[in-house]
Amino acid sequence: MKLEDIRKVGVVGAGTMGNGIAQVCAMTGYQVVMRDVTLELAERGLNTISKSLDRMTKKGAISAEEKKATLSRLQLTEKLEDLKDVDFAIEAVTENTGVKEGVFKTLDDLCRPQIVLASNTSSISITKIATFTKRPSQVIGMHFMNPVPVMKLVEIIEGLQTSKETSALVVKLSEKLGKVPVVIKDSPGFVSNRVLMPMINEAIFALYEGVGSPEAIDTIMKLGANHPMGPLSLADLIGLDTCLYILQVMYDSFGDPKYRPCPLLVKMVDAGYLGRKAGKGFYDYS
Ligand code: NAD
Repeated sequence: MKLEDIRKVGVVGAGTMGNGIAQVCAMTGYQVVMRDVTLELAERGLNTISKSLDRMTKKGAISAEEKKATLSRLQLTEKLEDLKDVDFAIEAVTENTGVKEGVFKTLDDLCRPQIVLASNTSSISITKIATFTKRPSQVIGMHFMNPVPVMKLVEIIEGLQTSKETSALVVKLSEKLGKVPVVIKDSPGFVSNRVLMPMINEAIFALYEGVGSPEAIDTIMKLGANHPMGPLSLADLIGLDTCLYILQVMYDSFGDPKYRPCPLLVKMVDAGYLGRKAGKGFYDYS
């Protein structure tokens, strides 16, 4: 499959990441079919895209015509069968191996054998996901960053079975989407979370031990290391449940105690203090 052969992109999952990916693909000129488990959830995703395009129009980044054209390229569905004629598929469903297995098995049965199936997973092994299909050499990680329309990076993860052709195609596609692709090998936490999560965890340990307040820890990293956001604010943005899950994956996969999640992180997730989305995390958002 060549880049020029890709006209229609299937996006599975219309949540935070799925709708962002669908938006970027549609803005690039691709026809997009976005699927969620109910039409209502897909419509919610479309609503988020529409608001994002409105903000871009107000800022003058795109014209009203471009907004209209982008929306016209987006088709919503609750049926995975509607992805049978796509030329490329990107999965962005809930971070759960069982759910992803179901999606990849069905996509593999439905889609033409030559097309590539990419996953936006943050922590599940691409090598493992590839085994859910009969086309493991055409399965790859395409790890977009949140918010997708804003963030430039796409971390491209080659599973053990991923072919060089698949990898080269996904690099070209990412560039066409206006992103900067960086190719790495499959490994727990990939590179982004392997480096980021221990820093966040260490900031939580510093808070847990009473070394400093959340504001003190975040300000030190913002002004001292030139980070745009402190580690505790960033954890609240990502979601504390997601941070805990990724740390647990790395801890279990490497068997190395340096990835052990801070007990305070575990306690906060137990309490439902999941960060911004819950209105409370290390900071109060109510
Ligand atoms: P989310 O909960 O916002 O959205 C997931 C969506 O998938 C939901 O709307 C859910 O209804 C839908 N879904 C579940 N099963 C489905 C199925 N079988 N078919 C179609 N849709 C289905 O989650 P998210 O934050 O968008 O995360 C999606 C993926 O992206 C995960 O693998 C996550 O690890 C990864 N990721 C997330 C971020 C982030 O910052 N949120 C960043 C990078 C990668």
